[in-house]
Amino acid sequence: MSTTDPGAGAAHDDVVASPGAAGTEQPGDLAGVPDGFERLWTPHRMAYIGGQDKPADAHAGPGCPFCRIPSLPDEDGLVVARGEVAYVVMNLYPYNSGHVLVCPYRHVADYTDLTDAEVAEVAALTQTAMRVLRAVSGPHGFNLGMNQGDVAGAGIAAHLHQHVVPRWGGDSNFLPIVGRSRALPELLGDTRARLAAAWPGAQADGTGDDVDAKG
Ligand SMILES: [Zn+2]
Repeated sequence: MSTTDPGAGAAHDDVVASPGAAGTEQPGDLAGVPDGFERLWTPHRMAYIGGQDKPADAHAGPGCPFCRIPSLPDEDGLVVARGEVAYVVMNLYPYNSGHVLVCPYRHVADYTDLTDAEVAEVAALTQTAMRVLRAVSGPHGFNLGMNQGDVAGAGIAAHLHQHVVPRWGGDSNFLPIVGRSRALPELLGDTRARLAAAWPGAQADGTGDDVDAKG
């Protein structure tokens, strides 16, 4: 294990398991794109959840995770912050701890089809996500970007989403290359709670409710 792994230190009893703390989430309710990597969730309290959450088709509505998630409570949907026309959610299949997705509420595939307001808010939420991640977990850099179309690697191509991936020196070690696995030192629900609490406008009680995502 690289000494630069973010938050490493609980790397005992590694098991392949779910990101959910309560073990009750259905993967289809959450956001993310299966990518063939196994995840090693290093914290202890966790339960296994199998399955995939890739939508059955490209239509809007309950079959699309990014359409469905905003209807869930923040904790259940792993929502970090909500804006007027876009929101921020934990990626169920993170490349690193703190990997979030910025999505318009509207089911739209192509970046050129976003309204001016959506372009502006996706950009503003991306900036805020970077600031919050820097404050919470001190990444050394970021990867930002959108995959447009299946051919470009978009797992849920029908609903646009911008990746914000915090990076640390040495975070790409032998595990993803050889083992097709990633070691993630924190549960998604815990990461979500820390980011939501640090989001501008978050309530002092740290629940992240009533977040002013414009902040
Ligand atoms: Zn959608």
